[in-house]
Amino acid sequence: MKVCITCQADVSGKRAVPIREDRIIKTIRAVKRALGVAQNNELFVCDTCIPKHMERRRSFEKTMLFASIFAGFVILLLFYSIVTSGRLDAWAIASAFVVAGFVLLLPIFRYAPAIEQVGAPQTSMPAWSASAPVPKKPEEKGPEQELSTKGAPKAKRRR
Ligand SMILES: [Zn+2]
Repeated sequence: MKVCITCQADVSGKRAVPIREDRIIKTIRAVKRALGVAQNNELFVCDTCIPKHMERRRSFEKTMLFASIFAGFVILLLFYSIVTSGRLDAWAIASAFVVAGFVLLLPIFRYAPAIEQVGAPQTSMPAWSASAPVPKKPEEKGPEQELSTKGAPKAKRRR
């Protein structure tokens, strides 16, 4: 089934942009297969949901960027302390990597997958460009939760 990842609606026959299958999506898929809850849906973002999705994607990218910078900083700090103190403290090394790893994992909870290029020929007249600005209310839903929600009855939301 072709499903919109934002509103969970079935998008077959409607205009929608496919999402890019990245490592996180593949990981989620693998985990779901392992748990036996995979639905093997093809994931899309429907026209109506694109502004909202782009907003989420941008905020995810920003979070990811800050997380990488911060994690890099923690590791640099670790190397700096090793160099200046001249000794290897196993606990300091372990905790630095735990902190860095944790920081890098946090953005996953805001995860929004990339979509194939908007404005491609099949979507040359973007209906969303004229629509009202997206309200700034990030939905605090993890990707796992979001992808697993069954095609809920709130699907018939149209403009
Ligand atoms: Zn949608």
